[in-house]
Amino acid sequence: MAGFGIFQDTIDQDVYKYYADGEWKVSSSGNSVIILNPSTRQPQYKIQACTQDEVNKAVQSAKEAQSIWAKTPLWKRAETLHKAAAILKEHKESIAGCIVKEIAKPHKDAITEVVRSADLISYCAEEGVRILGEGKMLVSDSFPGNERNKMCLVSKIPLGIVLAIPPFNYPVNLAVSKIAPALIAGNALVLKPPTQGAVAGIHMVHCFHLAGFPKGLISCITGKGSEIGDFLTMHPGVNCISFTGGDTGIAISKKAGMIPLQMELGGKDVCIVLEDADLDLAAANIVKGGFSYSGQRCTAVKLVLVMETVADVLVEKVVTLMSKLTIGAPEDDCDITAVVTESSAKFIEGLVDDARVKGATFCQEYRREGNLIWPLLVDNVRPDMRLAWEEPFGPVVPVVRITSVEEGIHHCNASNLALQGCVFTRDINKAIMISDAMETGTVQINSAPSRGPDHFPFQGLRDSGIGSQGITNSINMMTKVKTTVINLPLPSYTMG
Ligand code: NAP
Repeated sequence: MAGFGIFQDTIDQDVYKYYADGEWKVSSSGNSVIILNPSTRQPQYKIQACTQDEVNKAVQSAKEAQSIWAKTPLWKRAETLHKAAAILKEHKESIAGCIVKEIAKPHKDAITEVVRSADLISYCAEEGVRILGEGKMLVSDSFPGNERNKMCLVSKIPLGIVLAIPPFNYPVNLAVSKIAPALIAGNALVLKPPTQGAVAGIHMVHCFHLAGFPKGLISCITGKGSEIGDFLTMHPGVNCISFTGGDTGIAISKKAGMIPLQMELGGKDVCIVLEDADLDLAAANIVKGGFSYSGQRCTAVKLVLVMETVADVLVEKVVTLMSKLTIGAPEDDCDITAVVTESSAKFIEGLVDDARVKGATFCQEYRREGNLIWPLLVDNVRPDMRLAWEEPFGPVVPVVRITSVEEGIHHCNASNLALQGCVFTRDINKAIMISDAMETGTVQINSAPSRGPDHFPFQGLRDSGIGSQGITNSINMMTKVKTTVINLPLPSYTMG
């Protein structure tokens, strides 16, 4: 459990430290939070439970560092980010090792997450140089009644301190998708990592530390969200919140002050399969989309809406592919691994029980050992069942049989959650018309929902979020517009 190599500074007597003022520190609370390994359900790591006073100090030093960082040349900010990306990539194995132990993500996917995160940081540095290095000039005589005597220079300036709160399922990627745009735009960053995933987050922050960002610019405040979360999100020193997670985000948006919010919340991503679809393609995407990382992805396929006429064939194809999924340890790169906590496992079981009692058809026997749930396809789900509307965030995919496309669209649009959806058909005109009718942030045509590539816009409607992410949108969101107006003498003035 001890820290190793370059990460030695981040740990003290088996408890990982928090990061503030350019140093790794032990909290004065004297308390720690235990992180259980989801697979073994045994304690794996301990992190500091930070105090409110430590938050206040971190915010104060972030404020001081930000005023200097905002004046640091853009190319230099980009250079430091590139450096952090390279260090992160170099240490992908040890960071992935933490991800495997903290959130039971298969090892190969954990490596992919770290590499993707490093690429995101580099792309963000390059994109930031392009979009922040450019301004706009407006001339007054384009508006009725004005002469050509005013010139308005428009530029983008940082917001100040960005508070980043990522969820457990991508503790590195969804942290850097907030950190990198915030920093390139000249902001300071306070990170509250998820408890499950905090140690991977600490290692990732250490890579930023080694890259040489100014003292205080980045901090990593650890502790349970339920204990320190409100204090952070309502802190008067915070100028922007970028949050990814579940319903907690709805509560935060009601409590936060008058500051920009970026909320990436839950999804109930539907997969509409029409009669003319390539059913092999649809089945492969349902299995990959529904069961990758055991369904613990915001963009996982969480409901199949299939036309009754092709439902039997589709279900059979999905069941055949599911039989090839491997179940077991994340260290062995199994497809299905333990879900993150016992309470998640119990929640999923509650949804399954509800469907069973109300008469759904189970395509496999339901099986659970500890936090490990065997992949399950539940057919003939009806709208009165919880599985038709709630996000299992586990390896359970419900199927609702529909008799018209309109029925599928209606179900999709009746959900509170509206992150992504997908449609499978060979008729591109139909696909576009359905996409147009589906009220979700993104619609994928002939592919399962997915977040990447990370520069694509990514957003949820209704309870699935506020604002749009993706690298460019995040950089823009973490800046505000500043205008300077040059007032020239009126045209009657002679230039001599
Ligand atoms: P969560 O329970 O909402 O937690 C998310 C983060 O909020 C964690 O860091 C958590 O810290 C923190 N938190 C908890 N209570 C808080 C409070 N009162 N104030 C401030 N922060 C608080 O979500 P999760 O279980 O980690 O993630 C699963 C959910 O995230 C799913 O609903 C999924 O769909 C959604 N998600 C959405 C996207 C997207 O892009 N739309 C991407 C990934 C995941 P602790 O861990 O310490 O409790």
